[in-house]
Amino acid sequence: MSKVYIYGGLVVDPAQQLQQQADLVCENGKVSKVLLAPSAQQRSEWKQSADLVIDAAGKIVSPGFIDIHMHEDPYDEATDRFSGEIAQTMVRMGVTTAVGGNCGSNEADPDVYLDAVDRHGMAVNLALLAGHSTLRRSCGGTNKYAPVGDDVIEAMVQKGKAALQAGCLGVSFGVKYIPGTRWEEIIALARLCRAEDKLVASHVRADVDGVFDSCRELAEIGRQAGVKVQFSHVGSMGGYGQMPQLLAQIEGYRAEGIDLMCDCYPYDAFSTEIGATTYDAENFAMYRSDYSHILLCDGPYAGQRCTEQLFHEMRSTRPDTMTVGYFMKQEDVDLALLAPYTMLGSDGILVGQQGHPRAAGAFPRFLHQYAASGRLPLSDAIAKVTSMAAQRLGLTHKGSLKPGSDADITIFDLDTIKDQATYTQPVLVPKGIDWVLIGGRPAVQNGVLVNATLGRSVRR
Ligand SMILES: [Zn+2]
Repeated sequence: MSKVYIYGGLVVDPAQQLQQQADLVCENGKVSKVLLAPSAQQRSEWKQSADLVIDAAGKIVSPGFIDIHMHEDPYDEATDRFSGEIAQTMVRMGVTTAVGGNCGSNEADPDVYLDAVDRHGMAVNLALLAGHSTLRRSCGGTNKYAPVGDDVIEAMVQKGKAALQAGCLGVSFGVKYIPGTRWEEIIALARLCRAEDKLVASHVRADVDGVFDSCRELAEIGRQAGVKVQFSHVGSMGGYGQMPQLLAQIEGYRAEGIDLMCDCYPYDAFSTEIGATTYDAENFAMYRSDYSHILLCDGPYAGQRCTEQLFHEMRSTRPDTMTVGYFMKQEDVDLALLAPYTMLGSDGILVGQQGHPRAAGAFPRFLHQYAASGRLPLSDAIAKVTSMAAQRLGLTHKGSLKPGSDADITIFDLDTIKDQATYTQPVLVPKGIDWVLIGGRPAVQNGVLVNATLGRSVRR
């Protein structure tokens, strides 16, 4: 029975077009009141009756951030344990709800995973998409280059249906990673999302020169299945000089009525395993770059740039080695993030403490570089990290501070918010995040993680 009173801050809540000084009351895990002009006496009464009083003077009070695109922590069913830290790096950067199962890949059966989240608690609320690659593999489609038979597709559809019934918010594809993917399996899984207006997200078939045909394929999924489609991490797919043309193509589909939107992370380098198809010879050639643009993140050569010899050695001996590829253009990433139909998605993935700094820095980096700098109006920037994702995912109780919403709240200082994570120290804690509340309880206080188990599964 706890009551929280947050006073004196600038409340920014794009879902209710609110941007003004206001106080918030949270009771029993929900926002119960937004007080636009409390008198001194009212304020003192609220302060006295609350269990927790937060002075937010000079700070922004925002709905908790929603990360529509991340990769959840691994989970070991035998020991019933989560390994890894990404839920914790997420909450430290202000995220209160994260969506895993992206790019076609789940760490475990979604129902089993979400049950485990509820059993143990997690540092953030967690939702999942049902990943096509994982479904395909579990139904016998183990060769990523070979097409599967109709029997495998039928089995995938049955499993996909079960995952959606278990509360997955949609289906994800990592077509680029599974070149053998047939149109029939894509459309069969996508159609499952229509009835309950769930999302189809795709790491599309090809980047660089191939991105335009891939975008057409994604739009075709939206058209033929009658579903909303999400172009995953658009910056790392068309961020090599293609962005102006790619965005024009996307705007054309949107004008036709296809509900196509994008997510993007605010960095000009991507991260993937060295054994991934990204580095197959014909794909790598498209970047028109050389091996020194690849940084090895773990294993015996962690921290080193590749040479041709090292590249081939690691690809054959340790294909799961994480890499960072410095190939993207900052101006393309900017164009993608500034587009009104793009929201922020970290695409965060960690192997132990190693990986791309976006897992611990994407949200504060975006707010520092695009909102604090004035390149985006504050409410537009906050919409990209809160309400846009909530609306896209059909989460009616999240992404807003209107009374009745879950009391997931992030309080930050726009003058000091800044990512600290780097490619060599990828999990450093950002600056400027004062409080993160999940269900009206403190998860982060003055940048310090104080409770890592407040998050629960988010199902729909
Ligand atoms: Zn991806």
